[in-house]
Order: sequence, then structure tokens, then C-alpha cells
Amino acid sequence: GFKAYVLREGEGGKVTGAFEELATAELPDGDVTVRVAYTTVNYKDGMVMNGIGRLVRKYPHVPGVDFSGTVETSSHSGLAPGDPVVLTGWRVGETRWGGYAVLARVPGDYLVRLPAGLSLERAMALGTAGFTAGLAVDSLEAAGMRPDGGEVLVTGASGGVGSVAVALLAAKGYTVVASTGRAETHGYLTELGAASIVDRAEFAEQPKRPLASERFQAAVDNVGGTTLANLLTQVAYGGSVAAVGLTGGNEVTTTVLPFLLRGVSLLGIDSVMCPKDRRERVWKTIADTLPMDRLDAVSHLHRFDELPDLGRAILKGEVRGRAVVTVGGG
Ligand code: NAP
Repeated sequence: GFKAYVLREGEGGKVTGAFEELATAELPDGDVTVRVAYTTVNYKDGMVMNGIGRLVRKYPHVPGVDFSGTVETSSHSGLAPGDPVVLTGWRVGETRWGGYAVLARVPGDYLVRLPAGLSLERAMALGTAGFTAGLAVDSLEAAGMRPDGGEVLVTGASGGVGSVAVALLAAKGYTVVASTGRAETHGYLTELGAASIVDRAEFAEQPKRPLASERFQAAVDNVGGTTLANLLTQVAYGGSVAAVGLTGGNEVTTTVLPFLLRGVSLLGIDSVMCPKDRRERVWKTIADTLPMDRLDAVSHLHRFDELPDLGRAILKGEVRGRAVVTVGGG
């Protein structure tokens, strides 16, 4: 058997979680079984653990959107026992069992072999959040963002995606403006490489005019809602915005004027169904670009039994940077 954090549905659809011993025969189908070393807690994991958002349709369920570990058994041609791998997305931890267990079984095509120089622990310091930050930077650069092109805004900066985006952009030589609602994270954001910090209240109200002064060449937006509506009015001519998150709401009321008069582009970022070749390329770029001491400053290590507490904390916006959780260790 193996240890797992299992969610079950009780009376009236109430979801409760507990650590249980499961039999290997209970694992779902898949051509690769992974011995999980580390997992993490994303905002979505918080939702799943607390039965919010109807992301999980079938119980019992093992959550865990991300995991890193070593291949235990494989009938996939590209993977052999002992290979270090990372998994993010593909709706693992939602529509199928995820990483909150000592063993996980998935289609081998979902797994990315760890790029050289990246440990199993640091792969989870990144996780979906870090990978998504990498995707956002990749998309913005493809749209023309350049280190000498002016300020780049990161909203929700002290969260998981935001922290890695700040560190990655700073490492690439960008001038980063970090927007946060937490005054106590200013020192942390500066350490990650933010050149300046703005209070998220600046973007909190619906903009009064369709265009404001041109300020940012680009933005990584983790907040959505009025924040996105606001920053769109402040993007410089030809600039672009990566729409990543919705912690501030999923409805955006804007005008078309930033798009029509300033040629601004709104770029959608999806980490879940991102094709395998782009995944491998972006993971490698992150591993090669992000200074590991910066990544270590973003992450904090937790025990397996802390998962339920972390799941509640992330929904309240109380998790700074990235929580790495030891499952089997590596
Ligand atoms: P996180 O660690 O919880 O960070 C979210 C940050 O958003 C918080 O730290 C906070 O930043 C800010 N925030 C929270 N509530 C807010 C509010 N009411 N108004 C304004 N700002 C608020 O979550 P994460 O893992 O970084 O994910 C960030 C977002 O991206 C989530 O919405 C997540 O679902 C989404 N996401 C999308 C993808 C994708 O593929 N598109 C992938 C991963 C995550 P401050 O404390 O600094 O203000």
C-alpha cells in the first residue's frame, strides 16, 4: 500500500479529506507509475481540497495538480525506471488522481523529464505557478517585449505565479514593477528583483477613462477583474498583457480603445493543456535563466501532513510565494 491524502464526499455533498493507506491496485490507468518526491499547493488545489468550483466530479479523489518524482515502472517508450520527472496540468488532480500520494499513475506523455540542473524539490518550487510565469514571459517576448523597452508590471506579485514572474523578468534584465496588496512583502519583492512596488489599490477601481498615460510596455496579470481593466488603459503603444489569473474576479469590463488606438495585445495563457514540445522548451528556459538562490527565496518546505492547512491558507491569500510539500522526498 501507499499513503495518500484522499477526499471523500459525504452527506449533502460535503467534501472531507483524510490521510489514508491505499492499495496499488486502486491507482488509475496509465503507462507510467511515479514515486512522488514533492508536491505543492496551487490556488486550484485549495479549491479542490475545499470542494469549491466543481472541479472534481468523481470521489474518492486524490488531489494534487503538480508533482515531481522518479519513474517507478513504465511501459512508455520515452521513460524508464529512475528517470526524474515533473508533472503539471493536464487536469491531473482534478479529473484524475494527482500528486498528494506516495505513488501516482499517469499517461507518460503528460510527464516532462527534469531539465539538467533542476532538482526534484526546485521543480516543485516552480510547479504550475512557475511554469505559468515562464509561459507568460515566453508569450510576451514573442509579442515583442524587450529588456530595454520600459517597465513591466506584475500583478498579484507576492503570489506563486507573481513571485516567479518577478524573479524571472528581473533575471532577464527587465525593469519590474510589482503590484501587491501586502505591505509586508515589499522587502521580499525587492529581493526578487522588483525595481519598484505599487499598491494593488491603485488598480482596484473601474477606470474612469478608456485611456490613461502610457506607462508599461507589458504586464503579467494574475488578478483579472477591474485590475486588468485598469492596467489595459496604461499599456504603452504596441505593448501586450498576459492574462493569467482571476484572483480579483473573472469579469472584465473594458473598451476596445487600447487595442484600436494603441495596438495593445491581450495574450491568453493556459498552462493546463499546453502542448508537450512547448512545455519542454519553457521548463528548460526557466531552469537555465532563473537564478536558483532567487527560486529558493520564493519557496518554503512543508510536511505532507500540512496539506489541509495550506489548502485553506492559499484561498485566503495567505501563502507567500511557493509552498513545496515533501511526500517521499528525493
Ligand atoms: P496565489 O499564490 O494565491 O497568488 C495570488 C495573488 O493574487 C495573491 O498573492 C495576491 O497577491 C493576489 N490577490 C489575491 N486576492 C486578490 C484580490 N481580491 N484582489 C487583488 N489581488 C488579489 O495564486 P497563484 O498560484 O500565484 O495563481 C495566481 C492566479 O493565476 C490564480 O487566479 C490562478 O488560478 C491563476 N493561474 C492560472 C494559470 C493558467 O494556466 N492560466 C496557471 C496557474 C495559476 P498580493 O498579495 O501580492 O496582492
